Amino acid sequence: STVFVSGASGFIAQNIIKLLLEQNYKVIGSVRSNNKAKQVHSTFENNPSLSFVIIEDLSKLTAFDEVFKKYGKDIKIVLHTASPVTFQATDLEKGILIPAVNGVKSILNAILKYAPQTVERFVYTSSVLAQVNPTWTDFKNVTINEKSWNDSTWEGSQVDSLTAYSASKAFAERAAWDFMKEYGNEVKFKLTTVLPSFVFGPEVKIGPKLNLSGEILKTIIHATSEKQLPSVDTVLRVSVDVRDVARAHMLAFQKEECIGKRLSLVENVFTLQDILDLIHTDFPDLSGNVPVRAPVSNEKMPKELFGFNNDESKKILGFKFYDFKTSVHDSIKQILDAQK
Ligand code: NDP
Repeated sequence: STVFVSGASGFIAQNIIKLLLEQNYKVIGSVRSNNKAKQVHSTFENNPSLSFVIIEDLSKLTAFDEVFKKYGKDIKIVLHTASPVTFQATDLEKGILIPAVNGVKSILNAILKYAPQTVERFVYTSSVLAQVNPTWTDFKNVTINEKSWNDSTWEGSQVDSLTAYSASKAFAERAAWDFMKEYGNEVKFKLTTVLPSFVFGPEVKIGPKLNLSGEILKTIIHATSEKQLPSVDTVLRVSVDVRDVARAHMLAFQKEECIGKRLSLVENVFTLQDILDLIHTDFPDLSGNVPVRAPVSNEKMPKELFGFNNDESKKILGFKFYDFKTSVHDSIKQILDAQK
C-alpha cells in the first residue's frame, strides 16, 4: 500500500523512507522544491516506488489539499514529520509556531475533505519537548511519562527558539489529538504520535549540511579548546537513535496496540562529557586536539535532571533500542568517513 511522508528531505523522514522501501511500500514524499525531490530521489537510487509532491509552505491551511484530492484514494498511511527544526529563527511565531501547528491542521483537514474513508493510519512526529517545558526549573520530583505535557502558552513560549520550538511540538500534537476528538467519527484513520528525544545516529546519505545532532558532533570533533565546544542544553540531554525512531514510526502504524498512543522514545541520558569520553576512547586519531574535559558549567549539571519513564512505550514497541555509545559512534564515524 501507499504511504505519504511529509518532509521527505528530513533526517528522520529519510530513515523512515529507507525502511518503507525495504518493506515494499509505495512512498509519496512531500518536499519544498523540485531540487530537493531530485536530491532525495537520488539518495534512494531513483527507486520507482518513491515519488514526490511539492509543498512549499506548511503555514498555508490548504497546503495539503491538492495532494489528497489527487492521491487520497491510494494513500493508506500518513506519516507527518515535516515541521521547522531550528533554534535560530528570528520571528518565532512565523518561523516555528505557525508552520508547525498549521502543518498538522492542514494535512488533517485535507484528509477529512478528500480521503476520510481511505486513509487508515496517521502518525505524527512529535517530540519529548511536547512532554517537557524547558522553562521549568524544578525537575527534581518530576517524572516524565506518556501522559506528560509541555504546559507552555502561545505567548509565553515566544522567549527564545528552544522554548518556541518545544511549544510548537506540543501545540501541533495537541491539534492532532483535538482533531480526533472532534472528527474521529468522520474519518477512518486512527492516530498515533511518536515522541523522539534528541536524535543521534547516521543519516541515510550524508551531505554537506548535517542534521541537528550531526552538526553538534561535527563542532565537537573540530573543537580544539573548551570555548569551541557547543553547549549541550539540559532538556536535550535525553537521546535515542534515528534507526529506532524510524522503526518506531513503522510499528506505530503496523501494530494495533499503537493506536491512540503517544510513543515516548527516550533511551539514554547523556552529558557533553560522555561524548568527549567516547571520542577519546573510540577515535584516537582525534584525541590530540579535542578537549578532554567539558567546561565546568556543563559538568555541574546533574546527570539526571528529571526522571523519565517510558516503560509503556517500550513494552508496546517491544524491541531493544540502540545504546548511546553505538549511536554516537556510528554518527561520528559517518562524519569522519565523509571527510576523507
Ligand atoms: P529535519 O530538519 O531534517 O527535517 C524537517 C523536515 O521538515 C524537512 O523535510 C524540512 O524541509 C521540513 N520543513 C521544515 N520547516 C518547514 C516548513 N516551514 N515548510 C515545509 N517543510 C518544512 O529534522 P528532523 O528529521 O530531525 O525532524 C523531523 C521531525 O522530527 C520534526 O517534526 C521534528 O520536530 C521531530 N523531532 C526531531 C528531533 C531531533 O532530535 N532531530 C527530536 C524530536 C522530534 P527542508 O529540508 O526543505 O528544510
